[in-house]
Amino acid sequence: QREIHLVSRPVGEARAQDFALVESAIPQPGEGQLLVRNTWMSVDPYMRGRMNAGTGSYIPPFELGAPLSGGATGTVVASRSAAVPVGTAVLHQLGWREYAVVDASAVMPIDVSLAPASAYLGVLGMPGLTAYAGLTEVAPVAEGDVVFVSGAAGAVGSVAGQIARRLGASRVIGSAGGPEKAKKLVEEFGFDAAIDYRAGSVAEQLAQAAPAGVDVYFDNVGGDHLEAAIGAMRPGGRIALCGAISQYNATEPVPGPRNLAAAIGKQLTLRGLLVGSYYHLAPEYARLAAGMLAAGELRAEETVLDGIDRAPEAFLGLMRGANTGKMLVRLAG
Ligand code: NDP
Repeated sequence: QREIHLVSRPVGEARAQDFALVESAIPQPGEGQLLVRNTWMSVDPYMRGRMNAGTGSYIPPFELGAPLSGGATGTVVASRSAAVPVGTAVLHQLGWREYAVVDASAVMPIDVSLAPASAYLGVLGMPGLTAYAGLTEVAPVAEGDVVFVSGAAGAVGSVAGQIARRLGASRVIGSAGGPEKAKKLVEEFGFDAAIDYRAGSVAEQLAQAAPAGVDVYFDNVGGDHLEAAIGAMRPGGRIALCGAISQYNATEPVPGPRNLAAAIGKQLTLRGLLVGSYYHLAPEYARLAAGMLAAGELRAEETVLDGIDRAPEAFLGLMRGANTGKMLVRLAG
């Protein structure tokens, strides 16, 4: 079997040379364990933080010379647990390899008759739940709100825009990089207006798109997007600090928004979001999302690369915006 190791810690943007494709023997499950043939693996922006040696992140760094890890789906091909028989489709955390030995207690069976396995890494999985928790708990959307979402063409952002509408938003504005993505936001994901942040100032474009201001901002990007949003917020506005991808490759501490003091006068709430704290909402979200998907009310795109050897390329592409919707690697049919 083949797996991807991290062989050097990136400084700034990660490079292909930071990863290596390594062949190893298929591992054997011990008592209470499963051998899983992985079908799909996820690449996610948080993985960039785990490639750094430093402390300060909320999860420990990846080890050098060992396989990376992350969300994956697969099929159980050998089982030493009565609870999870051979043939079960599962979600687990040992991606970046073709075969994984996983404790039976660390997998979640998935229903692939309800949705394809890949959906459990995207719209029905962690990214979808992140969008839902952000807009229901962290920066709740109320009926009639104007909502702004950055990273809006990505896995979390594309769901956030559609969930915001479902929660009663009167106007939903998204920002993404490039004219094609901006067009997609409006034509496919149902945003009312789109900002191409590469085409000019976010603050100016947001002022045009939301002349009466913004009530809820779902922040995937940080930096100029957060500053623009603070400037556009209405009094009492809520901001979910979900991600800051514009800063993940930074090698020096990044200054905060210059207009943060405006949060005082407007009595804004800026609140950090970690999806790990919201898994109690997973059943309620899964029901909502599965229903919306079945009714054709939730559009979920995927960008797929084939083969474990392309996993580094998928990660590097994700960090540069090569994806629309969820970025995935298909490992087996
Ligand atoms: P996406 O599918 O959104 O992919 C990342 C996107 O980031 C790219 O497609 C690219 O889109 C955009 N991007 C890259 N660089 C920049 C930049 N400098 N400025 C603006 N946009 C940029 O990834 P996810 O949906 O998985 O994650 C989105 C965000 O949510 C990330 O910040 C991630 O860390 C965060 N997150 C947080 C969680 C939590 O619990 N707090 C859980 C899951 C995700 P474009 O072409 O538009 O530039």
